[in-house]
Amino acid sequence: MCIFCKIANKEIPSKVVFEDEHVIAFHDVNPQAPTHALVIPKRHIAGIAQATPEDEAVLGRLLLAARRVAELTGIAESGFRTVVNSGANAGQTVFHIHVHVMGGRPMAWPPG
Ligand code: IMP
Repeated sequence: MCIFCKIANKEIPSKVVFEDEHVIAFHDVNPQAPTHALVIPKRHIAGIAQATPEDEAVLGRLLLAARRVAELTGIAESGFRTVVNSGANAGQTVFHIHVHVMGGRPMAWPPG
């Protein structure tokens, strides 16, 4: 079982920000911003490149949960960045799809 499946199953502890039947959001263990959380589906999907039409609803839930995370952590008003790295070349290191939610500081563009 992958590390994020274990987090979703509570086999590995995490600092949960938000959770419902389909998704769970938790603080990143190596934060790159004052607020840095990850939103994942509880059902394993490796990444955007592996998503199928059957995943349409849960992909939408991830972004709505990202908004919820921003509200709950107090960064919704000031602005926040959502990122989904897809594939090793893009920086994906955990192959269970996740939306990064980052805020609390100005974000540069383009990212590195
Ligand atoms: P990626 O590089 O887009 O795949 O992002 C993976 C993220 O997962 C990184 O920001 C890591 O810091 C984070 N991460 C890895 N393992 C854990 C964990 O056990 N708890 C919380 N975050 C984790």
